[in-house]
Amino acid sequence: MSFDLASRLAERRVADLYRQRPLLDSPQGPLVRVDGRELLAFCSNDYLGLANHPLVIEAWRAGARRWGVGGGASHLVIGHSTPHHELEEALADFTGRPRALLFSTGYMANLGAVTALLGPGDTVLEDRLNHASLLDAGLLSGARFSRYPHNDAASLATRLDKARGDTLVVSDGVFSMDGDLADLPALCREARSRGAWVMVDDAHGFGPLGASGGGIVEHFGLGQDDVQVLVGTLGKAFGTAGAFVAGSDELIETLVQFARPYIYTTSQPPALACATLQSLQLLRSEHWRREHLAALIRRFRDGAARIGLSLMDSTTPIQPILVGDSARALQLSQLLRERGILVTAIRPPTVAMGSARLRVTLSAAHDGAQVDRLLEALAACWPLLVEAGDA
Ligand SMILES: *Cc1c(COP(=O)(O)O)cnc(C)c1O
Repeated sequence: MSFDLASRLAERRVADLYRQRPLLDSPQGPLVRVDGRELLAFCSNDYLGLANHPLVIEAWRAGARRWGVGGGASHLVIGHSTPHHELEEALADFTGRPRALLFSTGYMANLGAVTALLGPGDTVLEDRLNHASLLDAGLLSGARFSRYPHNDAASLATRLDKARGDTLVVSDGVFSMDGDLADLPALCREARSRGAWVMVDDAHGFGPLGASGGGIVEHFGLGQDDVQVLVGTLGKAFGTAGAFVAGSDELIETLVQFARPYIYTTSQPPALACATLQSLQLLRSEHWRREHLAALIRRFRDGAARIGLSLMDSTTPIQPILVGDSARALQLSQLLRERGILVTAIRPPTVAMGSARLRVTLSAAHDGAQVDRLLEALAACWPLLVEAGDA
């Protein structure tokens, strides 16, 4: 009857699945100080290099002087301040939608949107590789929950034909651990022809993707009739923290009234909204960041092909190197670290059993020489991986 935490922890260790937190002792950036050592890092989601941008930091400081540091209360009580409101309006303009609603984190935005829209008697259909927060949201909603094979629009269509009640198709925009894009044109077509709605969580698409950083919907030229519920997070390419849902006035009002993770939490610090307003401006205006990042992605992929590394089918800053076995993924990460390069291993249950990987991520803050250093280190380390445990 008592909690046997020790054996749970031991099991995890034996399976090479034990997690440790690298201790970061510097701001985000290509060069970081981790566990007392300077390393060249390729694993943050700061895709545009805005997390430590002087103008964003200054906006935060000015915001704190003007508005203080605490949100003070939930949005519905007395926590909804002018910077929050301005950021929502700016995000609505950015996404080309009537309104946007600010959440404290992407996890909460996903829980809030799905649970506000669906309940028992409804149906939620999710890509098998969706982010954990979307899967948790589907389960929490109490709706009939089904996962379709990755990006399989035909399988989605079969499930849509059997769906009951209000039906929501939910997908990552850019898949967070693989870097590939949702086949949104096909998914939206199947949903739309049957009156289902589509919700896209584009945590990794806003910023890098689309001509003006508008993410996967801009990339594919899709509108609100295709994707009714559009989620973005602010802790990745925006370089700050928080998240938003963009959509119709009716959708946003529904979330304000019914989304529990929106209602029952303190608003984010208003100074943070000031910082995000600044980073949104940089994201929209400094196209060189997107272009430089795209050039780095090409450089990395070309170089990886030359040294015989098999990369996944990704055109985004997420460029995972599939290893398979968890112990070997840890080993590769360790070998790179010995050469001064930090890429953390991603293991189950974050990814499927047998698909452990090094999730390399590129940022506009990197330069070409740094990408070359990564490639050289990979060329040296890859052959050293022992085959043990691979059978
Ligand atoms: C990071 C991430 C989230 C969570 O966002 P936070 O703001 O970090 O809570 C949600 N969805 C996806 C796809 C993500 O990658």
